[in-house]
Amino acid sequence: MQLRQVVLTGDRPTGRLHLGHYVGSLKNRVALQAQHDCFVMIADTQALTDNFDDPKRITESVVGVCKDYLAVGIDPMKSTVFIQSMVPELFELTSYFLNLVSVARLERNPTVKSELQQKGFADSITAGFLCYPVSQAADITAFKATLVPVGDDQLPLIEVTNEIVRRFNRIYCKEVLVEAEAVLSNIRRLVGIDGQTKACKSLGNAIFLSDPSEVIRQKINSMYTDPNHVKVSDPGRVEGNVVFAYLDAFLDDKSELDDLKSRYRRGGLGDTVIKSILNDAVQALLAPIRDRMELVKDDDIKDMLREGSERARTVATHTVSEVRDAIGFGYDNCKT
Ligand code: ATP
Ligand code: MG
Repeated sequence: MQLRQVVLTGDRPTGRLHLGHYVGSLKNRVALQAQHDCFVMIADTQALTDNFDDPKRITESVVGVCKDYLAVGIDPMKSTVFIQSMVPELFELTSYFLNLVSVARLERNPTVKSELQQKGFADSITAGFLCYPVSQAADITAFKATLVPVGDDQLPLIEVTNEIVRRFNRIYCKEVLVEAEAVLSNIRRLVGIDGQTKACKSLGNAIFLSDPSEVIRQKINSMYTDPNHVKVSDPGRVEGNVVFAYLDAFLDDKSELDDLKSRYRRGGLGDTVIKSILNDAVQALLAPIRDRMELVKDDDIKDMLREGSERARTVATHTVSEVRDAIGFGYDNCKT
Protein backbone atom coordinates (compact mmCIF):
# COMPACT_ATOMS: atom_id res chain seq x y z
CA MET A 1 0.00 0.00 0.00
CA GLN A 2 1.18 3.49 -0.88
CA LEU A 3 1.94 5.80 2.04
CA ARG A 4 -0.23 8.88 2.31
CA GLN A 5 1.72 11.96 1.29
CA VAL A 6 1.02 15.67 0.94
CA VAL A 7 0.59 17.08 -2.54
CA LEU A 8 0.78 20.79 -3.31
CA THR A 9 0.34 22.40 -6.67
CA GLY A 10 -1.39 25.36 -8.21
CA ASP A 11 -1.96 27.74 -11.05
CA ARG A 12 -1.59 31.43 -11.64
CA PRO A 13 -5.04 32.96 -12.22
CA THR A 14 -3.97 34.76 -15.37
CA GLY A 15 -6.60 33.23 -17.65
CA ARG A 16 -8.43 29.97 -18.21
CA LEU A 17 -6.65 26.62 -18.07
CA HIS A 18 -5.52 24.89 -21.23
CA LEU A 19 -4.53 21.49 -22.58
CA GLY A 20 -0.94 22.01 -21.34
CA HIS A 21 -2.26 22.26 -17.80
CA TYR A 22 -4.42 19.22 -18.38
CA VAL A 23 -1.69 16.85 -19.52
CA GLY A 24 1.12 18.47 -17.51
CA SER A 25 -0.54 18.66 -14.12
CA LEU A 26 -4.33 18.44 -13.79
CA LYS A 27 -4.59 14.77 -14.77
CA ASN A 28 -1.97 13.83 -12.18
CA ARG A 29 -3.69 15.90 -9.51
CA VAL A 30 -6.97 14.13 -10.10
CA ALA A 31 -5.22 10.76 -9.82
CA LEU A 32 -3.26 11.77 -6.69
CA GLN A 33 -6.21 13.19 -4.77
CA ALA A 34 -7.61 9.70 -4.25
CA GLN A 35 -4.66 8.54 -2.12
CA HIS A 36 -3.02 11.66 -0.78
CA ASP A 37 -3.72 14.95 1.02
CA CYS A 38 -3.94 17.40 -1.85
CA PHE A 39 -3.67 21.17 -1.70
CA VAL A 40 -4.42 23.12 -4.87
CA MET A 41 -3.48 26.78 -4.74
CA ILE A 42 -4.78 29.66 -6.81
CA ALA A 43 -1.53 31.63 -6.97
CA ASP A 44 -2.97 35.14 -7.12
CA THR A 45 -0.11 36.79 -5.26
CA GLN A 46 2.40 35.14 -7.56
CA ALA A 47 0.38 36.28 -10.58
CA LEU A 48 0.51 39.81 -9.20
CA THR A 49 4.31 39.85 -9.54
CA ASP A 50 4.03 40.39 -13.29
CA ASN A 51 0.47 41.77 -13.37
CA PHE A 52 0.63 44.25 -10.47
CA ASP A 53 -0.65 47.01 -12.74
CA ASP A 54 -3.59 44.90 -13.93
CA PRO A 55 -5.05 43.17 -10.86
CA LYS A 56 -8.42 42.80 -12.63
CA ARG A 57 -6.86 40.22 -14.92
CA ILE A 58 -6.16 38.13 -11.84
CA THR A 59 -9.35 38.68 -9.90
CA GLU A 60 -11.47 37.99 -12.96
CA SER A 61 -9.64 34.73 -13.63
CA VAL A 62 -10.11 33.07 -10.25
CA VAL A 63 -13.62 31.77 -10.83
CA GLY A 64 -12.75 30.54 -14.33
CA VAL A 65 -9.77 28.55 -13.05
CA CYS A 66 -11.99 26.99 -10.36
CA LYS A 67 -14.60 26.06 -12.97
CA ASP A 68 -11.85 24.34 -14.92
CA TYR A 69 -10.72 22.49 -11.78
CA LEU A 70 -14.16 21.16 -10.98
CA ALA A 71 -14.86 20.26 -14.60
CA VAL A 72 -11.72 18.09 -14.90
CA GLY A 73 -12.51 16.27 -11.68
CA ILE A 74 -10.72 18.06 -8.86
CA ASP A 75 -13.00 17.17 -5.99
CA PRO A 76 -13.25 19.66 -3.08
CA MET A 77 -14.10 16.73 -0.79
CA LYS A 78 -10.66 15.28 -1.53
CA SER A 79 -8.55 18.34 -2.42
CA THR A 80 -8.19 21.57 -0.48
CA VAL A 81 -8.55 24.35 -3.03
CA PHE A 82 -7.44 27.71 -1.65
CA ILE A 83 -6.39 31.24 -2.57
CA GLN A 84 -2.77 32.15 -1.87
CA SER A 85 -3.53 35.71 -0.69
CA MET A 86 -5.99 34.36 1.89
CA VAL A 87 -3.17 32.50 3.67
CA PRO A 88 -0.92 35.33 4.92
CA GLU A 89 1.30 32.85 6.81
CA LEU A 90 2.83 32.09 3.40
CA PHE A 91 4.23 35.61 3.25
CA GLU A 92 5.80 35.34 6.69
CA LEU A 93 7.56 32.17 5.56
CA THR A 94 8.66 33.94 2.39
CA SER A 95 10.34 36.63 4.52
CA TYR A 96 12.41 34.06 6.39
CA PHE A 97 13.30 32.21 3.19
CA LEU A 98 14.45 35.34 1.36
CA ASN A 99 17.59 35.24 3.52
CA LEU A 100 18.41 31.74 2.39
CA VAL A 101 18.92 32.30 -1.32
CA SER A 102 21.20 34.69 -3.17
CA VAL A 103 19.99 37.18 -5.75
CA ALA A 104 22.53 35.70 -8.19
CA ARG A 105 20.99 32.26 -7.74
CA LEU A 106 17.53 33.62 -8.56
CA GLU A 107 18.84 35.53 -11.58
CA ARG A 108 20.47 32.35 -12.90
CA ASN A 109 17.32 30.26 -12.54
CA PRO A 110 16.52 28.97 -16.06
CA THR A 111 12.73 29.30 -15.64
CA VAL A 112 12.98 32.86 -14.33
CA LYS A 113 15.46 33.71 -17.09
CA SER A 114 13.22 32.47 -19.88
CA GLU A 115 10.15 34.17 -18.39
CA LEU A 116 12.05 37.45 -18.17
CA GLN A 117 12.94 37.12 -21.81
CA GLN A 118 9.38 36.20 -22.81
CA LYS A 119 7.93 39.13 -20.88
CA GLY A 120 10.56 41.57 -22.19
CA PHE A 121 11.38 42.79 -18.68
CA ALA A 122 15.02 43.66 -19.48
CA ASP A 123 16.29 45.83 -16.60
CA SER A 124 12.85 46.63 -15.23
CA ILE A 125 12.50 43.35 -13.34
CA THR A 126 10.88 43.95 -9.96
CA ALA A 127 12.10 42.42 -6.72
CA GLY A 128 8.69 40.73 -6.44
CA PHE A 129 9.04 38.89 -9.73
CA LEU A 130 12.66 37.89 -9.16
CA CYS A 131 11.71 36.46 -5.78
CA TYR A 132 8.58 34.54 -6.75
CA PRO A 133 10.51 31.22 -6.58
CA VAL A 134 11.09 31.98 -2.89
CA SER A 135 7.41 32.54 -2.32
CA GLN A 136 6.76 29.29 -4.17
CA ALA A 137 9.14 27.56 -1.75
CA ALA A 138 6.97 28.92 1.07
CA ASP A 139 3.81 27.59 -0.62
CA ILE A 140 5.25 24.09 -0.91
CA THR A 141 6.89 23.87 2.51
CA ALA A 142 3.99 25.44 4.44
CA PHE A 143 2.05 22.24 3.79
CA LYS A 144 5.12 19.97 4.08
CA ALA A 145 4.30 18.77 0.60
CA THR A 146 6.47 15.97 -0.74
CA LEU A 147 4.79 15.63 -4.15
CA VAL A 148 4.33 18.47 -6.61
CA PRO A 149 2.57 17.53 -9.88
CA VAL A 150 3.85 20.04 -12.44
CA GLY A 151 5.12 20.58 -15.96
CA ASP A 152 8.87 20.57 -16.52
CA ASP A 153 9.16 24.38 -16.42
CA GLN A 154 8.77 24.01 -12.66
CA LEU A 155 11.77 21.72 -12.09
CA PRO A 156 14.31 24.51 -11.51
CA LEU A 157 11.88 26.12 -9.06
CA ILE A 158 11.48 22.94 -7.03
CA GLU A 159 15.27 22.78 -6.91
CA VAL A 160 15.28 26.25 -5.28
CA THR A 161 12.69 25.03 -2.78
CA ASN A 162 14.81 22.05 -1.80
CA GLU A 163 17.94 24.18 -1.46
CA ILE A 164 16.03 26.48 0.90
CA VAL A 165 14.72 23.50 2.88
CA ARG A 166 18.22 22.07 3.32
CA ARG A 167 19.69 25.45 4.32
CA PHE A 168 16.89 26.16 6.75
CA ASN A 169 17.14 22.81 8.50
CA ARG A 170 20.95 23.03 8.65
CA ILE A 171 21.19 26.62 9.90
CA TYR A 172 18.41 26.36 12.46
CA CYS A 173 19.34 22.81 13.44
CA LYS A 174 15.80 21.43 13.20
CA GLU A 175 14.26 19.09 10.64
CA VAL A 176 11.16 21.26 10.38
CA LEU A 177 10.89 21.50 6.61
CA VAL A 178 10.71 18.64 4.13
CA GLU A 179 11.99 18.35 0.59
CA ALA A 180 9.57 17.92 -2.29
CA GLU A 181 9.77 16.06 -5.57
CA ALA A 182 8.12 16.89 -8.87
CA VAL A 183 5.56 14.48 -10.25
CA LEU A 184 5.92 14.73 -14.01
CA SER A 185 3.52 13.25 -16.51
CA ASN A 186 4.53 11.56 -19.76
CA ILE A 187 3.92 14.93 -21.47
CA ARG A 188 6.18 17.17 -19.45
CA ARG A 189 5.64 20.19 -21.64
CA LEU A 190 2.94 20.63 -24.27
CA VAL A 191 4.08 22.86 -27.14
CA GLY A 192 2.08 25.92 -28.15
CA ILE A 193 -0.29 25.67 -31.12
CA ASP A 194 2.05 28.20 -32.78
CA GLY A 195 5.03 25.86 -32.36
CA GLN A 196 6.56 27.76 -29.42
CA THR A 197 8.15 25.50 -26.83
CA LYS A 198 5.28 25.84 -24.35
CA ALA A 199 1.55 26.37 -24.55
CA CYS A 200 1.03 29.23 -22.16
CA LYS A 201 -1.83 31.40 -20.91
CA SER A 202 0.19 34.56 -21.28
CA LEU A 203 1.10 33.81 -24.88
CA GLY A 204 -2.47 32.86 -25.79
CA ASN A 205 -1.09 29.98 -27.87
CA ALA A 206 -3.16 27.25 -26.31
CA ILE A 207 -6.37 25.31 -26.68
CA PHE A 208 -8.34 26.21 -23.57
CA LEU A 209 -10.48 23.64 -21.78
CA SER A 210 -13.39 26.07 -22.13
CA ASP A 211 -12.94 26.71 -25.87
CA PRO A 212 -16.11 26.06 -27.89
CA SER A 213 -15.91 23.19 -30.34
CA GLU A 214 -15.62 25.43 -33.40
CA VAL A 215 -12.72 27.40 -31.87
CA ILE A 216 -10.92 24.12 -31.15
CA ARG A 217 -11.36 23.07 -34.77
CA GLN A 218 -10.00 26.41 -36.03
CA LYS A 219 -7.00 26.26 -33.69
CA ILE A 220 -6.15 22.73 -34.79
CA ASN A 221 -6.47 23.75 -38.46
CA SER A 222 -4.05 26.61 -37.88
CA MET A 223 -1.36 24.36 -36.34
CA TYR A 224 2.05 24.14 -37.99
CA THR A 225 3.02 20.83 -39.48
CA ASP A 226 6.13 20.33 -41.61
CA PRO A 227 6.70 23.29 -43.97
CA ASN A 228 8.35 20.93 -46.48
CA HIS A 229 5.33 18.66 -46.57
CA VAL A 230 3.72 20.53 -49.44
CA LYS A 231 2.07 17.75 -51.43
CA VAL A 232 0.30 14.83 -49.76
CA SER A 233 2.78 12.49 -51.45
CA ASP A 234 5.83 14.31 -49.96
CA PRO A 235 7.59 12.58 -47.05
CA GLY A 236 6.89 14.55 -43.87
CA ARG A 237 8.66 15.17 -40.58
CA VAL A 238 7.02 14.03 -37.37
CA GLU A 239 9.62 15.56 -35.03
CA GLY A 240 8.90 19.23 -34.37
CA ASN A 241 5.48 18.84 -35.99
CA VAL A 242 2.90 20.42 -33.69
CA VAL A 243 0.04 18.16 -34.79
CA PHE A 244 2.06 15.06 -33.93
CA ALA A 245 3.13 16.57 -30.61
CA TYR A 246 -0.58 16.90 -29.77
CA LEU A 247 -1.39 13.46 -31.15
CA ASP A 248 1.30 12.07 -28.81
CA ALA A 249 -0.58 13.66 -25.93
CA PHE A 250 -4.19 13.05 -26.93
CA LEU A 251 -4.47 10.02 -29.20
CA ASP A 252 -5.01 7.06 -26.90
CA ASP A 253 -4.54 4.38 -29.54
CA LYS A 254 -0.73 4.22 -29.70
CA SER A 255 -0.59 1.63 -32.47
CA GLU A 256 -2.77 3.87 -34.67
CA LEU A 257 -0.39 6.73 -33.82
CA ASP A 258 2.70 4.68 -34.80
CA ASP A 259 0.99 3.77 -38.05
CA LEU A 260 0.14 7.44 -38.77
CA LYS A 261 3.72 8.47 -38.06
CA SER A 262 5.23 5.94 -40.44
CA ARG A 263 2.73 6.76 -43.18
CA TYR A 264 3.44 10.48 -42.73
CA ARG A 265 7.21 9.93 -42.83
CA ARG A 266 6.89 7.80 -45.98
CA GLY A 267 4.63 10.29 -47.76
CA GLY A 268 1.02 9.86 -48.74
CA LEU A 269 -0.71 11.13 -45.60
CA GLY A 270 -2.16 14.65 -45.79
CA ASP A 271 -2.10 17.30 -43.08
CA THR A 272 -5.89 17.59 -43.24
CA VAL A 273 -6.22 13.93 -42.29
CA ILE A 274 -3.95 14.13 -39.23
CA LYS A 275 -5.62 17.38 -38.16
CA SER A 276 -9.02 15.78 -38.42
CA ILE A 277 -7.91 12.79 -36.30
CA LEU A 278 -6.50 15.18 -33.70
CA ASN A 279 -9.68 17.26 -33.78
CA ASP A 280 -11.80 14.15 -33.07
CA ALA A 281 -9.57 13.17 -30.13
CA VAL A 282 -9.53 16.64 -28.56
CA GLN A 283 -13.27 17.20 -29.09
CA ALA A 284 -14.00 13.85 -27.43
CA LEU A 285 -11.85 14.82 -24.44
CA LEU A 286 -13.17 18.36 -24.00
CA ALA A 287 -16.91 17.99 -24.73
CA PRO A 288 -17.74 16.32 -21.38
CA ILE A 289 -15.39 18.71 -19.53
CA ARG A 290 -17.24 21.68 -21.09
CA ASP A 291 -20.57 20.12 -20.16
CA ARG A 292 -19.50 19.77 -16.52
CA MET A 293 -18.28 23.41 -16.55
CA GLU A 294 -21.81 24.53 -17.37
CA LEU A 295 -23.12 22.92 -14.20
CA VAL A 296 -20.71 24.67 -11.81
CA LYS A 297 -22.35 27.41 -9.73
CA ASP A 298 -20.42 30.56 -8.72
CA ASP A 299 -21.69 30.28 -5.12
CA ASP A 300 -20.30 26.75 -4.82
CA ILE A 301 -16.92 28.07 -5.96
CA LYS A 302 -16.95 30.77 -3.29
CA ASP A 303 -17.83 28.23 -0.59
CA MET A 304 -15.10 25.89 -1.80
CA LEU A 305 -12.49 28.68 -1.72
CA ARG A 306 -13.57 30.00 1.67
CA GLU A 307 -13.51 26.58 3.32
CA GLY A 308 -10.34 25.54 1.50
CA SER A 309 -8.47 28.72 2.45
CA GLU A 310 -9.43 28.31 6.10
CA ARG A 311 -8.24 24.71 6.11
CA ALA A 312 -5.01 25.69 4.34
CA ARG A 313 -4.47 28.46 6.86
CA THR A 314 -4.71 26.08 9.78
CA VAL A 315 -1.98 23.87 8.32
CA ALA A 316 0.26 26.80 7.33
CA THR A 317 -0.13 28.41 10.77
CA HIS A 318 1.16 25.24 12.38
CA THR A 319 4.24 25.13 10.12
CA VAL A 320 4.95 28.83 10.66
CA SER A 321 4.91 28.36 14.42
CA GLU A 322 7.41 25.49 14.07
CA VAL A 323 9.56 27.69 11.82
CA ARG A 324 9.49 30.60 14.27
CA ASP A 325 10.36 28.22 17.04
CA ALA A 326 13.30 26.78 15.08
CA ILE A 327 14.68 30.27 14.49
CA GLY A 328 14.15 31.07 18.15
CA PHE A 329 11.39 33.65 17.74
CA GLY A 330 8.34 33.86 19.95
CA TYR A 331 7.55 34.81 23.56
CA ASP A 332 8.44 31.40 24.94
CA ASN A 333 11.91 31.64 23.45
CA CYS A 334 12.71 35.08 24.94
CA LYS A 335 15.93 34.85 26.91
CA THR A 336 16.19 36.77 30.15
P1 ATP B 1 1.30 32.02 -17.18
O1 ATP B 1 1.44 32.42 -18.60
O2 ATP B 1 0.47 32.94 -16.36
O3 ATP B 1 2.63 31.68 -16.52
P2 ATP B 1 0.92 29.18 -17.66
O4 ATP B 1 0.13 28.79 -18.84
O5 ATP B 1 2.42 29.06 -17.74
O6 ATP B 1 0.46 30.65 -17.23
P3 ATP B 1 0.91 28.38 -14.90
O7 ATP B 1 -0.23 28.82 -14.05
O8 ATP B 1 2.20 29.14 -14.81
O9 ATP B 1 0.41 28.35 -16.43
O10 ATP B 1 1.25 26.83 -14.67
C1 ATP B 1 0.47 26.00 -13.83
C2 ATP B 1 0.95 24.58 -13.92
O11 ATP B 1 0.71 24.04 -15.23
C3 ATP B 1 2.46 24.40 -13.69
O12 ATP B 1 2.65 23.22 -12.98
C4 ATP B 1 3.04 24.26 -15.06
O13 ATP B 1 4.23 23.49 -15.08
C5 ATP B 1 1.91 23.53 -15.79
N1 ATP B 1 1.92 23.88 -17.22
C6 ATP B 1 1.64 25.10 -17.74
N2 ATP B 1 1.78 25.08 -19.08
C7 ATP B 1 2.15 23.81 -19.40
C8 ATP B 1 2.45 23.14 -20.64
N3 ATP B 1 2.39 23.79 -21.78
N4 ATP B 1 2.80 21.83 -20.60
C9 ATP B 1 2.86 21.16 -19.42
N5 ATP B 1 2.59 21.73 -18.23
C10 ATP B 1 2.25 23.03 -18.22
MG1 MG C 1 3.66 29.83 -16.11
